Amino acid sequence: MSDQAPVITRFAPSPTGFLHIGSARTALFNWLFARHHGGRFLLRIEDTDRARSTAQATAAIPEGLNWLGLEWDGDIVSQFDNAPRHAEVAHKMLATGTAYKCYATKDEIDTFREAERTAGRPPLYRSPWRDGGTPPAPDAPFVIRLRAPQTGETMIDDAVQGRVTWQNNTLDDLILLRSDGTPTYMLAVVVDDHDMGITHVIRGDDHLTNAARQTLIYQSAGWETPVFAHIPLIHGPDGAKLSKRHGALGVEAYRDMGYPATAMRNYLARLGWSHGDDEFFTTEQAIDWFSLEAIGKSPARFDFKKLENLSGQHIRAMSDARMLAEMQAFAASQHRESFTQLQQDQILAAGAGLRDRAKTLPELFDMAYFILGSRPFSPNEKAAKSLDTVSRGMLRGLTSRLRNASWTADALDAELRSFADSEDLKLGKVAQPLRAALTGRTVSPSVFDVMVVIGKTETLARLEDAIG
Ligand code: GLU
Repeated sequence: MSDQAPVITRFAPSPTGFLHIGSARTALFNWLFARHHGGRFLLRIEDTDRARSTAQATAAIPEGLNWLGLEWDGDIVSQFDNAPRHAEVAHKMLATGTAYKCYATKDEIDTFREAERTAGRPPLYRSPWRDGGTPPAPDAPFVIRLRAPQTGETMIDDAVQGRVTWQNNTLDDLILLRSDGTPTYMLAVVVDDHDMGITHVIRGDDHLTNAARQTLIYQSAGWETPVFAHIPLIHGPDGAKLSKRHGALGVEAYRDMGYPATAMRNYLARLGWSHGDDEFFTTEQAIDWFSLEAIGKSPARFDFKKLENLSGQHIRAMSDARMLAEMQAFAASQHRESFTQLQQDQILAAGAGLRDRAKTLPELFDMAYFILGSRPFSPNEKAAKSLDTVSRGMLRGLTSRLRNASWTADALDAELRSFADSEDLKLGKVAQPLRAALTGRTVSPSVFDVMVVIGKTETLARLEDAIG
C-alpha cells in the first residue's frame, strides 16, 4: 500500500444534531487507517438536506470529533456547496451517453411500477426515454438518469465483506440529477469522493448496496473506484441494532458520563476491530496496528462494563498533570467551577491516590472531594454512621496528638498506629471516623495522603468541626 498512491480517507456524516457513537467509530476507523498510512483524513458534511442542516446540527460534528481527538486534514467540505459541480458531471455523462434525459411523469412511473408488481416482478422502473425520443414539449421537465447496464453483474472487492456481486438486472437506471437541477445523494457522494481523491471509503455496512450503484456511476464517469470497506453496524447489548437517532448515544453523552477521550478511542477501536488479545492500548498503538483486514465481519456489541473497565485503566495510566488536565476539561464541559490554584496543586500532590479506583471522571471528582469541597465537611449518611459520640471522643484524643505530629505520610502512619495501640483499637476503627471527619465521605484516598495533601492546619480545623 505505502508505495502506491497516498491514502486519503474521509468521514462524511449527515448533520443529525449530534455525533452518533456509531458514526464516531466510523470516523475513528477512517482516521486510524489514514494515520497508519501517513495519509490524509478529510471531513465532508453531507448537508444537502437543507431543513436538517442547521448550523447547530452541523457544528455538533466537528465538536464531537474535537473531543474525541480525531483531527481532520484541510478544510471541512460542504456537499451542498458542490451542487454545481455535481450538475456539471451529470451533464458531461449526458454528453457521453452514459446518462440520458427522462421525461416520465410521476404518474407514469407509478403506473409502470404497479404493473410490474401485479405481474409479480420487482418494481424496477424501466424508462422508455433510455432509447431516446422527442421531448413532450421543448421546455418539458426532465431528470437525468444513469444508463446502467441491464445484463451482467456489478462487483466490488470489499476490504471487509470480501467479494460482493449484484446482478445488473436488479439495479435500475437511478436518477443522477432531479428536474430542479439538484443532485441525488448517489451522484453527490461519488463526485465528491472522486474530486477529493478518496482512495478508501470506510463506512457502515448499511451503505453496502449503495456501493453497487455508486460503482456503476464511477464506471460510467470513467473514474477509478476507491477501495470500499463496509463495517458491520454496532449492536446493543441485547443484539439489536443501536438506533441512530437515539440522542443519548451521541459522543457528548459519553463525554458527560465522564469517559476520557483516550478510553473512548480505545473502546471504539475494539468495537469491530481487534489486534490479537489486546484490550487496553494507547492511540499510538492503535495507529501502529490498524488494518482493514482485522475488522470483523460480524457486528460488535456495545458493552458498558467493558467501556467502564477500559476507562478505569486509562485513568490509572494518566500522569498527574494529564489527570489534572482531564479533570479541568471535564469541569469546563459540565459548567462546573474551575479549580483554584490551591486545588490544582493539591490534585497534583494527591496524584495516583486519587485515580487508583476511579473508573470515570465523576468518580475522580468524588475521590477529590476532600480537595474540591469546603469546610465544614458535613458527613453524608454513610460517613455519619462512623461519627457517633464514642468516635468523636476518640477523635478528640487523636487531635491533641496530631498537634505535635510531624507531617509526612510515614510519620502520620506511625502516629496513628501508636494512637490505636494506646486506645486498644484496630487501625480501621481510628481511620474510618478520621476519614469521615476529613472528607465527609466513606471513600477517599488513604487518610495519610489526605492529611498530607490538605496540610496540618486544615486537618486540625476539619477535626475540630467534626468534634463540635
Ligand atoms: N452521509 C452518510 C451517512 O451519514 C454517509 C455516506 C458515506 O459514507 O458514503 O450515513
